[in-house]
Amino acid sequence: MKTHHNPKNNQLFLQAKKHIPGGVNSPVRAFAGVGGTPIFIHRAKGSKLFDTENNAYIDYVGSWGPMILGHAYPPIIEAVQQAAADGLSFGAPTPFETTIADKICELIPSVELVRMTNSGTEATMSAIRLARGYTGRDKIVKFEGCYHGHSDGLLVKAGSGMLDIGEPTSKGVPSDFAKHTITLPYNDIDALHACFNKFANEQGSELACVIVEPIAGNMNMVIPSQDFHDTLRQLCDEHGVVLIFDEVMTGFRVGLGGAQTHFGITPDLTCFGKIIGAGLPVGAFGGKRAIMECVAPLGGVYQAGTLSGNPLAMRAGIAMFDSLTKDGFYQQLADKVDYLLNGIHQVADKHGIAIRSNRLGGMFGLFFTDNNIPQNFDDVSKTDNQAFAQFFHGMLDNGIYLAPSAFEAAFMSSAHSMQDLDATILAADKVFADMKSA
Ligand code: PMP
Repeated sequence: MKTHHNPKNNQLFLQAKKHIPGGVNSPVRAFAGVGGTPIFIHRAKGSKLFDTENNAYIDYVGSWGPMILGHAYPPIIEAVQQAAADGLSFGAPTPFETTIADKICELIPSVELVRMTNSGTEATMSAIRLARGYTGRDKIVKFEGCYHGHSDGLLVKAGSGMLDIGEPTSKGVPSDFAKHTITLPYNDIDALHACFNKFANEQGSELACVIVEPIAGNMNMVIPSQDFHDTLRQLCDEHGVVLIFDEVMTGFRVGLGGAQTHFGITPDLTCFGKIIGAGLPVGAFGGKRAIMECVAPLGGVYQAGTLSGNPLAMRAGIAMFDSLTKDGFYQQLADKVDYLLNGIHQVADKHGIAIRSNRLGGMFGLFFTDNNIPQNFDDVSKTDNQAFAQFFHGMLDNGIYLAPSAFEAAFMSSAHSMQDLDATILAADKVFADMKSA
């Protein structure tokens, strides 16, 4: 395999910057966290991405989750080709939307009704509007280090005090919007109690909802405690607060039933994204019938989309679910993740490089730290970003494509072969050796 940086990337990046802000259509792609020039991808097949010079990279990003069957998986490509031949969009109902809704409700018991959107951002934004419409309350709670897309009320961080009014994290977000968002530390039961004591107590509740990544995939991979989830569910129940699980990252990824099945928690609403459309633009939100019946046209919470439930995305998703529901699918992914991480830990130990890891199903995270496995955003922020950047570039030079940020999770697909995993471990061995001698 020919694996080196393609010098053409510099040229392509310059050209891209001429008419695209920062040369990218989503900021993380610009390699800001690790430095250097992004690789421009021309095509992908199975476990591999190919750049414009046909250099191959074993891919652990998988389009940030959806490529669980590998790239250009033949049954999905066939489904999309057939769908395209039948017309790209009708702006009218199709039976494919019903098939996928039935499938999601069958696989995720907390979901009784589900509405398709075009992205994860739309799903979370709509779920929050729904929670507000259902409860008649304005305030929402989110957690530090969780990402729920780029809608105004979610681009907010904690104010100077934990229970203060939130502050926008992006210019252009009115502070009037941010003041309705409370941001708490993740995985912190005391903070939950303090928040509910203040905003949802015997006098009534000001809280419409709590939105949480049940396993965080946007601060590397952080798995919270069972107690955190049990407490959250209990407090929301006691005070009629809608509990929203954002499973855009974890849904059909950590297991067929998502993180909610892993923790045995029934959220009121769940958001999905990415994976449902097998790589085509899709999101969804769904949950308890009584809440979902508030969505238009049944209820007064408006939500819509010209391309929502797009036939290509639905037919790709249906083909994908056929594979995910095969016996042993997730065990096979988990076994591969174990093999890879055990190998990486071994070579890290050999070279005296301190790493920690998290894993569940087809999702995993690697931290450069000799502290305990991170439990929240603060812990992740204290990991060695410089070591990660060195590792990232070393791996890229050796043909391994990881997320260009120490704050992102990694993904395994069913297309990754044992040779891919061994090549990745070998690359890590070389890169750790270089890091140690640098
Ligand atoms: N929620 C989570 C947990 C996510 O990881 C993301 C995207 N990474 C989103 C929401 C937003 O999804 P999208 O990028 O499709 O708008």
